Amino acid sequence: MNSASRKGIGMTSERTRRRLIDRLRSEGISNSRVLEAIAATPRHLFLDEALGSHAYDDTALPIGFNQTISQPYVVAIMTEAILHPGCHKVLEIGTGSGYQAAVLARLVDTVYTVERIRPLLDAAVERFQKLDIRNVYCRHRDGFEGLPEHAPYDGILVTAAPAEIPQALLAQLGEGGRLVIPVGDRYAQDLRVITRHGDEFEERRLERVRFVPMLDGLS
Ligand code: SAH
Repeated sequence: MNSASRKGIGMTSERTRRRLIDRLRSEGISNSRVLEAIAATPRHLFLDEALGSHAYDDTALPIGFNQTISQPYVVAIMTEAILHPGCHKVLEIGTGSGYQAAVLARLVDTVYTVERIRPLLDAAVERFQKLDIRNVYCRHRDGFEGLPEHAPYDGILVTAAPAEIPQALLAQLGEGGRLVIPVGDRYAQDLRVITRHGDEFEERRLERVRFVPMLDGLS
């Protein structure tokens, strides 16, 4: 590619990124820190080059192994939902491309993220290195067990859908911590936000979403 066309892509990407932010705002995303974090995260670098021209469309896209990078609108509502004044340490279940973790990394001190598919995890680690993101720690784990050795978390964000809320994740939430999780069957789920107050868990439902299923075991 010559330098002129490379520059062309750069300009397009800046304009299309801006357009994405305007769209998210019009869809009701009002937290300016979340919008800024999305604007600053180069989604095209979390996708196969062939899909680059769609990187700033507000849609989920394939990342291989039957998995998808989440739709930016869904990343935005989940990120808005998890943030609270004491939110410094977050666990993500389902690293996938690493995009959601990269957005979170701009908003909290530390992000732990677990993924069950080894090659996806390895590719995400490489992206974090390339982008010089140093506060995301990746582990090859089954997210149904959470990541007990670094618990408690101020927030746990789940980007694959279980049929029911895994108890291990509730147990790893700290006081005032929030679990943001899609719960349902493989066709549609309710996005739920569960906040811990001592031994009580308060639940709020956001909207209907569609995530890939949360699966048992490593691969
Ligand atoms: N957050 C990702 C979305 C990836 S899609 C992104 O921003 O790109 C959901 C991911 O969850 C997939 O990569 C899938 O392999 C992973 N996943 C599904 N079940 C899991 C489990 N039990 N433990 C860990 N990861 C899981």
